[in-house]
Amino acid sequence: MAAKRDYYEILGVDRTASEAEIKKAYRKLAKQYHPDMNPDNEDAEQKFKEATEAYEVLSDTEKRSQYDQFGHAAFNGAGPGGFSGGFTDFDMGDIFGSMFGDIFGGGMNQRQRTGPMQGADVRTSINIDFHEAAFGVDKEIEIVVGENCTTCHGTGAKPGTQPQTCKHCNGTGQVRYNQNTLFGSMTSIRTCDVCQGEGKIIADPCNTCHGKGIVKNKKKIQVNIPAGIDHGQSIRLQGKGEPGQRGGPYGDLLITILVKPHPIFERQGYDIYCKIPITFVQAALGGKLQVPTLDGKVEYSIKEGTQTGTTFRLKGKGVPYLRNPKMRGDQYVTVTIDVPTRLNEEQRKKLEEFAQISGDEVHSQRKGFFEKVKDAFGEALS
Ligand SMILES: [Zn+2]
Ligand SMILES: [Zn+2]
Repeated sequence: MAAKRDYYEILGVDRTASEAEIKKAYRKLAKQYHPDMNPDNEDAEQKFKEATEAYEVLSDTEKRSQYDQFGHAAFNGAGPGGFSGGFTDFDMGDIFGSMFGDIFGGGMNQRQRTGPMQGADVRTSINIDFHEAAFGVDKEIEIVVGENCTTCHGTGAKPGTQPQTCKHCNGTGQVRYNQNTLFGSMTSIRTCDVCQGEGKIIADPCNTCHGKGIVKNKKKIQVNIPAGIDHGQSIRLQGKGEPGQRGGPYGDLLITILVKPHPIFERQGYDIYCKIPITFVQAALGGKLQVPTLDGKVEYSIKEGTQTGTTFRLKGKGVPYLRNPKMRGDQYVTVTIDVPTRLNEEQRKKLEEFAQISGDEVHSQRKGFFEKVKDAFGEALS
């Protein structure tokens, strides 16, 4: 296969193009190269697929930023079972449904092939908490998904009867017809309207599924969420989506992970950031702090004279790596000094004594500061 073309180049847009510009460029190309407009034109089909793939990536903020950073390599090796949401078998139905309903009059379903067709992917999301994302968790989710009807075993025909091959199209689901145009006679293909492209006709439909061969069921699914997963990443469960048509394989289930924010921890990649307040006495004298981490509290000694905004690192107290749980990120702790707001009489007295003892120094420092301001801005401020 030839080297993959740049997605921006395919859509003919700038690297800084807005979402709307990307959508507009794609609509134009898709209209131009859509297989329904170009029957039997492989080149057009190829261009259509290429544009669709480019659009699938560039219209998704997260995928676009991955592509901007790593190019096509961002999506290699992230096929089924991968966590980074490989798009190799993305759900075309989604895009068509949302974008082309208006252009093609919702006619996308008419473009059916008679061979086995893979079922659609099912998308859902799941909420987990910060800890669960860090260390992994098993969850049970309930989805409503189609399954082959057990009454008719997916044929759609009443038990004891068989679907009949469509005589109009000889079971191919498509009919060829000749059309006279300005350029001469052209052969076109359209979906058989007797069997709606199915190739088969069900004379006596199954009562359970009303001839569809598929029934919707609530289904419980166990999801093993790996340690290190982050907000917005998704898990693909192969074969847990909608059933295929005409014996095609099941689609996949894509589960997007939504991580609830933590009250004190903030995650960036595999590192954790947090702020902890200390008293100004602790800051001045130094001492031992109890620092909350994912693994519980740990003790950390701060130095005498610690300033507000000082950050220290707890190595290996971050989140385990998704693909290598033995490795972990770090935790960065920033101390902020809490200034007491409600002093009692005794505390106030002691502080005033403290100020008196260190009075000269504090006074001269303040004076020095205001003199600097004056130097910088002139007398006007004084
Ligand atoms: Zn049935
Ligand atoms: Zn037919």
